[in-house]
Amino acid sequence: MLSENVKSIKHMAFAVRDAKAALTTYAQFLGVPPDTVIHEYPMSRTRVALFDLGGIEYQLCESMDADGRFSEWIRERGHEGLHHICYAVDDIDAALEHAQANGAILRMCKACRVAGSHPHPEGFVAFLDNDAGGIEIELMQVYSAEELRQYQEVQGI
Ligand SMILES: [Zn+2]
Repeated sequence: MLSENVKSIKHMAFAVRDAKAALTTYAQFLGVPPDTVIHEYPMSRTRVALFDLGGIEYQLCESMDADGRFSEWIRERGHEGLHHICYAVDDIDAALEHAQANGAILRMCKACRVAGSHPHPEGFVAFLDNDAGGIEIELMQVYSAEELRQYQEVQGI
């Protein structure tokens, strides 16, 4: 069962127009440190305010370009909002096999142009083309220390 495979929520990612401005509300009303660092990722051309709230990692994601992943998402819907939930799984191949056996279709990762399990900075990820209540599903098998070392070696980090 896929539900038995999901260990926890790895993160929730929100599409926002301005990561710094979006962070303000969390700082004002929910106690998130106002000096939370806004990370800039040159590869994916995104700015992300990243923090922990209630034991869950939040990512407030702003595209640096008008045709970026999060800009387009906002333009299509006309508002900011919850872009995807990333679920941590023990075994991404087993989770995908189960999901596909039940009719799931793989969605291409817009950043990497790959469908199905592939390496990202924190683990192996895959996206489903089957939104849950309008929210995109991302699955992640978080790297072991050894897998992380291998990924960083390949990337030259
Ligand atoms: Zn990717």
